[in-house]
Amino acid sequence: MKFSIKLVLWTMIIMALTLGLSGFYFVNYVFETSLEREINQAMDENSILRFAFETAALNVPLKYGVLQDGTVEQIASNLETGGQDVRRMLRLSDEEKNALYISDGFDADNELLEQTKENQRAYRVIRSGEHFYVQTASNVNALDRVLYLETLKDVSEVFYERAMGYSVYRRMTILMLIFGVIIMNFIAAWLTKPIRLLTKATKEMAAGDYSYRANKVSNDELGQLTLDFNSMAEALEENIDKLEDEIQAREDFVGAFAHELKTPLTSIIGYADMLRSRKLDEEKSFLSANYIYTEGKRLEAMSLRLLDIIVTKRGEAKFQKVSTESLFEYIRSMFIPNEAMEFVYTYDKAFVRADSDLIITVLINLLDNACKASEPGSVIEVKGNQEESGYRFTVRDYGIGIPIEEQDKITQAFYMVDKSRSRSRNGAGLGLALCAEILSRHHSRLEIDSAPGEGSSIGFVLRKEGKEEENEKINH
Ligand code: ADP
Repeated sequence: MKFSIKLVLWTMIIMALTLGLSGFYFVNYVFETSLEREINQAMDENSILRFAFETAALNVPLKYGVLQDGTVEQIASNLETGGQDVRRMLRLSDEEKNALYISDGFDADNELLEQTKENQRAYRVIRSGEHFYVQTASNVNALDRVLYLETLKDVSEVFYERAMGYSVYRRMTILMLIFGVIIMNFIAAWLTKPIRLLTKATKEMAAGDYSYRANKVSNDELGQLTLDFNSMAEALEENIDKLEDEIQAREDFVGAFAHELKTPLTSIIGYADMLRSRKLDEEKSFLSANYIYTEGKRLEAMSLRLLDIIVTKRGEAKFQKVSTESLFEYIRSMFIPNEAMEFVYTYDKAFVRADSDLIITVLINLLDNACKASEPGSVIEVKGNQEESGYRFTVRDYGIGIPIEEQDKITQAFYMVDKSRSRSRNGAGLGLALCAEILSRHHSRLEIDSAPGEGSSIGFVLRKEGKEEENEKINH
């Protein structure tokens, strides 16, 4: 069952119960009070009649010293009219409770009389046909006789009013319920609007539209729920986008890897087939074997790089306080100046927080790329500067440079700006991908500043370690 229908139904049930019970209680209260008033009046009337009878009996001239039944009848008849137009209904009975006088229309059994003892007054409410009466009974002491006086008072009006009250309340309750259903329907629709909007949003999202958001239409808890739902959807969308990007990157990686593998393998298989199927002269045999060897080496280098990336991704980096001097001196010892290349080192002495082996790998790759991009005899500058944000390492070359639109892509695995040039220099497009991976472990990234024909400056910043004065002191 819909929540809005439940809301309407329960409101109506509560409304019906409240109206019904309060109506019943009110009508009944009015009825009880009216009936009590009527009973009191009937009892008062009984007392007055009894008093009037006793007074009348006192004034009767006595023939035999006792009150005659005929005299009783006479007095009763006078009391019945009482000099008014309205006739009273009464019954007078003797000591044995046998009726001496009964008014017309006095229709009641002897039950109340039987229960009435001497010097007692009693009453009861009885029904006779369509009418309701208050029957009263009391005894009358007239001279030496003890008689019984009963009266009947018509109280049908009170019962009629009660029935009318019930009927009015019933109609009013039904009317208010109909009115209530119509109004509650609107209220329930308005109250449940945020729920409907949220349901729509969940359906849209389940159907794949992760950018769909629910409209906030209220400022209550449901409005808050809508806000929370939307921020959850936001996070979900971001995660899904990230996952999709990751899947795409993985697919690209596998595609590029397969492609990179195919080229050397085709050559290796081709040359190997030539060697085994034909008898080649010594020079051709050497060239073929050399080709197989070089391509094999390239494959080996590629697989080692890949392994490096995987190990960096999964392995634990050993962060420690590293002196920049030791890093630069290590690099200096690896890249020996020769007639083809000139290396210029300028650096501030300081300490950084890093895994020194991994940072050396990054520097070697950057220097390697700078060498590959430069013409023989070029200068390559390796710099280390202290900055506000940390310690900046830069490798600057004056080689071919990188076009601006390629600069974002060169850190992707297997990406090479000039494939044949890179392959001829044993490149596989994995060096910078490895550097990016290592630097992300150090919460850093490659910063590329390059223009074609003018060379490139590729650098990164590491967090400084130790006190500021310590770094200043060793600064040149
Ligand atoms: P590779 O093994 O091919 O050197 P890298 O990931 O190190 O792979 O570099 C990716 C590509 O970026 C290279 O193929 C090259 O085209 C370009 N590149 C990197 N460094 C430089 C540089 N200093 N100058 C010019 N191009 C560069």
